[in-house]
Amino acid sequence: MSQPILFEKNGRIAGLYELSKTITEEDIINAIKEFEERDRDIESYGNSSGYDLIYNGLTYPPKPIFGLALSKAIDFTVTSKHFSGGIGSPCFRRIQKLGFNIEAKKDASLSERKAWTNEELKDSVKTYLYFLSHDFVQDKATKKQFYNELSLKYGRSSKAYEFRMQNISFVFELLGRNWVKGLKPKQNITNNQITLIEKYIAECENKPFENLASFEMEVKQSLDDEHIQKPTGSQKPKQSTVSTVVYERSAKVKAWVLKRAKGVCECCNSPAPFETSDNRPFLEVHHLVRLVDGGSDTPENCVATCPNCHRLLHFGKNKDVLTNQLINRL
Ligand SMILES: [Zn+2]
Repeated sequence: MSQPILFEKNGRIAGLYELSKTITEEDIINAIKEFEERDRDIESYGNSSGYDLIYNGLTYPPKPIFGLALSKAIDFTVTSKHFSGGIGSPCFRRIQKLGFNIEAKKDASLSERKAWTNEELKDSVKTYLYFLSHDFVQDKATKKQFYNELSLKYGRSSKAYEFRMQNISFVFELLGRNWVKGLKPKQNITNNQITLIEKYIAECENKPFENLASFEMEVKQSLDDEHIQKPTGSQKPKQSTVSTVVYERSAKVKAWVLKRAKGVCECCNSPAPFETSDNRPFLEVHHLVRLVDGGSDTPENCVATCPNCHRLLHFGKNKDVLTNQLINRL
């Protein structure tokens, strides 16, 4: 069992270096993982001012990492006010003793904390859309070149652009669209930035802005709210008009695909769930590579599916795997 925690008059933990002896190297690594999982935002801890803990080439603020590791080790929630950081502090000494590097921030990383300009965000969206296009050769090295260019132009680290691209992936996911391979969606952006990103996507693609992503985000947040009250809703919802760009799809292709399916979902092989009023089996036709992503309107790019599978192909966890299986099967 751990020793009792004593406090100094100023609220700091007394004998911190001794107390932190129980922290292991693994505890620090777990704290780093937790820090990432919590989107680099730990209550009571601000951004680190002068120093970075370096792990696997990435930088972390030493204080919250130490705080998280110590909390686990002594089974007590250690907050920012319980100790101080800085060179020579028990916190830094313990981290270094465990074999981790702490470095003074370079000027470049100070610039990380400056706000993103609209121009910079728009440029990132443009780059992202280029990554999505068929002209782009998907690999990490080529993406890195683009981050470096952005980095030179706006004075932020290239890693920051990779993270921002993952934020853009998150917006694509909210929109039910495919995101760029290798850029796993990262949620740590504000609702305001989500709206801006969707706006720029619409602008770059020459499509109307529908404000869908921040709506879906609000739904997600409300789902997580344990104290949600039943809303009154609205008797007369406001109307707004959007002009849409539509793709001219071929009715013949749709009919041909429906005939090919013979009333059976081409995804799960179950019979159509019901018949329409004119006694035909009800199936929907889905484009495997979506038209907005440059897909073709051909029988080879279409599947007839039950409504369930259709939604699954848009929003399911394993939609990419499933889509690839269908592409190979057709
Ligand atoms: Zn199905």
